[in-house]
Amino acid sequence: MKSGFAEFHQRSIDPQTRDAFWQQQMSLVDWVKEPEKICDYSNPPFVQWFEDGCLNLCHNAVDRHLKDRADQPALIAVSTETNTEKTYTYRDLHAEVQHMAAVLQSFGVEKGDRVQIYMPMIAEAVFAMLACARLGAIHCVVFGGFASVSLASRIDDAKPKVIVSADAGSRGGRVMAYKPLLDEALQLSTHKPQAVLLANRGLAAMDLRAGRDHLWTDLRAKVMDAQVPCVTVKSTDPSYILYTSGTTGKPKGVQRDTGGYTVALAASMPHIFNAKAGQTFFCTSDIGWVVGHSYIIYAPLIAGMATILYEGLPIRPDAGIWWSLVEKYRITHMFSAPTAVRVLKKHDPAFLCKYDLSSLQALWLAGEPLDEPTAQWISDALRVPIIDNYWQTETGWPIMTLCNGVEPQASKFGSPGKAVYGYNVKLIDDKTGEELREPNQKGVLAIEGPLPPGCMQTIWGDDERFVKTYWQSIPGKLIYSTFDWGIRDEQGYHFILGRTDDVINVAGHRLGTREIEESISAHPEVAEVAVVGVADSLKGQAAMAFAVMRDASKVADAQQQVQMEAEVMRLVDSQLGAVARPSRVLFVTALPKTRSGKLLRRALQAVAEHRDPGDLTTMEDPNALAQVKELLGS
Ligand code: AMP
Repeated sequence: MKSGFAEFHQRSIDPQTRDAFWQQQMSLVDWVKEPEKICDYSNPPFVQWFEDGCLNLCHNAVDRHLKDRADQPALIAVSTETNTEKTYTYRDLHAEVQHMAAVLQSFGVEKGDRVQIYMPMIAEAVFAMLACARLGAIHCVVFGGFASVSLASRIDDAKPKVIVSADAGSRGGRVMAYKPLLDEALQLSTHKPQAVLLANRGLAAMDLRAGRDHLWTDLRAKVMDAQVPCVTVKSTDPSYILYTSGTTGKPKGVQRDTGGYTVALAASMPHIFNAKAGQTFFCTSDIGWVVGHSYIIYAPLIAGMATILYEGLPIRPDAGIWWSLVEKYRITHMFSAPTAVRVLKKHDPAFLCKYDLSSLQALWLAGEPLDEPTAQWISDALRVPIIDNYWQTETGWPIMTLCNGVEPQASKFGSPGKAVYGYNVKLIDDKTGEELREPNQKGVLAIEGPLPPGCMQTIWGDDERFVKTYWQSIPGKLIYSTFDWGIRDEQGYHFILGRTDDVINVAGHRLGTREIEESISAHPEVAEVAVVGVADSLKGQAAMAFAVMRDASKVADAQQQVQMEAEVMRLVDSQLGAVARPSRVLFVTALPKTRSGKLLRRALQAVAEHRDPGDLTTMEDPNALAQVKELLGS
């Protein structure tokens, strides 16, 4: 008989007990109509959670707290870029969300309509997301670091009625104008929204297009007394779409439901984060990423906590800034990424000792592998548990971590821990499709269906791609592939060993090498290009590009190469955004390929990381790697 967490986990996935388990979690949420059907998996791999239930996500995040905590801080917006700090109580947040909802309604936004949000880390972005949830509209947040081509492809896919944006963001004191990128995206896109709503921070001048572009402050002033009731939606109605990179150039719109997501996040707060109403959560991610959706906005608010929205770097004005916020706001829970810790590690640890951190219970880190030295360094400095958690945009909440709220367990540095309740995680032999049951065997991390509440329902507008991409990659089995390699030790702790596909992870940001390649191929002088992820001590991985020119004489000398490299980088910046810019562009005369013409990315990556490229017998031209080796001094 299992006990503690093992029993809890078993109950959550066993078809005999699963419904009762999730019925219990369901009580953490306010329903307009309580569901009677818990899990319908009659049409695998599609699952319907709480199918006949009705609710509203914004009500659960905001309105229901008015009774007990109207004057408690809900949103604390801090910007070290504009040196502003503003606290919104639940009452204030309720009012602002209604203003935003009224403005969106004035553009005709209603249940099921899409609203694209392309914004920096400002309170208005949170109002916009919650206002969509209030109206039953589907928000599609696009990370502010993406540029026009990325934005245009998402506009064409989601077809938003309205786009909410701002004049500019700011990073490290450098203003980044958003409006020109948005205008360019709207030129490129086939779909045109009815209206663009703009927050004006006074950071960059904006050209407003009459009839289409509107200023938030002007319209807000007209709806100050607005009362916009929450629109009841079905549990299975989509709450949002969030695009993520895959192996093709076309990003995938991860579609999330409403009821399952609300329950999953509500349950994660006591079980994973040991969090309670009235405490303060600081997630340092960005609203453009899944971690930001779930743990800057929805989960802390659903739990009745205060959440910190932070615009700025972790080291500006100095490396003590985050810890000064912990002291000032008595932050209890912190959630960040290993890259941020590696950035801090370059600075004097004294910055962490300067402040009273006694309120802090633990630090959770996610988004990329957490290496042991980094975990040890921050653990020594903070003296609180450092908890790795592994998940994906697709899942919306952790697949693996330690559920210390269920049963306290020791962290093993280098491992995100054990499969979380709800997730029936398996390691699979990629060639045979067989499950690897013995410890210490490397396999593909897969999840047996049904995926738990909160995970993706499908790819927006493309059920077939959803099934094909995620559920049919393992031979002979209908099982969800994470596309990560993993290994499990004798105690059930997992270790993540990198991606099985061509997705790379730069500073916790997931990028598709295909997208970067397509962008570089748009350069008229480039004949062919390959992009691979190369190990980087700060960012985990960095993108490195190998380009073949149409005319090699254009990069014959070092000066020409430097110029062309800068040109290619600028092109990627302008099309995809600086986040996707390769760290190096190297010019070669040929790319290593198999005799059937398949690019040997793994071999390129190995050489770039000064490793043995392995078996090259299928390579068409055995000398194709020699030039790469020479360029990289391997
Ligand atoms: P994203 O969808 O952008 O969150 O990226 C998800 C991918 O990031 C996963 O498939 C992993 O490759 C990687 N990842 C996320 N969290 C972790 C973690 N804690 N340890 C190792 N890799 C991680």
